[in-house]
Amino acid sequence: MNSQQRAELAALCPSVRWGANMAAFSTFRAGGEVEALVEIGDSQTLAALLDWLHRQRISWQVIGGGSNILVTRGRHEGVFIRLRGTTRDITVEPAPCENQAAHEVRVRVNAGCSLAAVIGWCAKNSLGGLEFMAGIPGSIGGAVRMNAGAFGHSISEVVDSVQCATSQGETVEVDGKEIRFAYRSSRLPGEPAAKMLIAAVALRLRPADRLQVAGQCRAIISQRKQKQPSGVGSAGSFFKNPAGDYAGRLIELAGLKGLAQGKAMVSPKHANFIVNTGGAVPEDILALMEQVRQKVLKQSGVLLEPEVHIF
Ligand SMILES: Cc1cc2nc3c(=O)[nH]c(=O)nc-3n(C[C@H](O)[C@H](O)[C@H](O)COP(=O)(O)OP(=O)(O)OC[C@H]3O[C@@H](n4cnc5c(N)ncnc54)[C@H](O)[C@@H]3O)c2cc1C
Repeated sequence: MNSQQRAELAALCPSVRWGANMAAFSTFRAGGEVEALVEIGDSQTLAALLDWLHRQRISWQVIGGGSNILVTRGRHEGVFIRLRGTTRDITVEPAPCENQAAHEVRVRVNAGCSLAAVIGWCAKNSLGGLEFMAGIPGSIGGAVRMNAGAFGHSISEVVDSVQCATSQGETVEVDGKEIRFAYRSSRLPGEPAAKMLIAAVALRLRPADRLQVAGQCRAIISQRKQKQPSGVGSAGSFFKNPAGDYAGRLIELAGLKGLAQGKAMVSPKHANFIVNTGGAVPEDILALMEQVRQKVLKQSGVLLEPEVHIF
């Protein structure tokens, strides 16, 4: 960006961080530097920013909680947009929509709102449907982009529609049925040719007993704590499960639990977690990722594909 563009961006987003180190915005606690990072919680600023970026031909990336990303070292030009949101932005839409069964409640959430906050809000408001997602970090927009899920369910099952902002700064409402959801991925109409940002998500939920919802969430979170490493940086499961198998099983079979590269390590607790034991740099994580892929390929003939999005 030239100095004129930097001044204009600072006027649009006064809290812009220049040369931000993404380690602070990624649950891996590792990452490279980006030219500019802006945190946005309101739709008007977001629309104005996307319009400006389009007119200036400046590249951008969007992130939510940073719980499934690795930003490599080296400078990343352009703007990283970190979406934020609170439960104050959650609205219940009263009238049943076309796709909606009579007992369903349609709830609209800004994409930057954390999944944990949405699930907490659901329990408080006696709404069920998202309990299986309890304990998954990140934002609701990130969850839709990743089609996040657990225990054989994924968020696609409760997505009614999403509001998207295009790289041209236009806003479009996309019906859930038009989104091509697959295992840990989603494709919006027009992608990949067009670049889309999920600005809001409408969920189909159902009335449920408040205490039961809260109890189920607690049970799921405690189950996750028993199986997953805690207190270390990670992005959750690093690799996608290959069809009919588990990446963790294949990594364990290859004897790779505890394998380390610099400060990155294959978790001794859960083989599909690459953890940052303290001070890992993106190169450590990438080198370990490659070692794991090659060793599993040799052992089992399966080339693992990262679930983590690498920028
Ligand atoms: C400890 C731990 C446990 C985890 N367990 C699970 C699990 O059980 N199941 C599971 O599925 N995942 C799991 N994850 C991975 C991760 O939490 C999910 O994928 C999560 O939904 C990502 O959301 P996010 O907001 O952090 O996305 P980010 O990491 O910020 O971004 C991920 C991708 O989504 C894109 N993106 C983010 N927001 C938007 C948006 N608004 N519009 C368009 N694109 C967007 C980004 O560009 C990036 O490509 C785990 C991660 C950790 C650290």
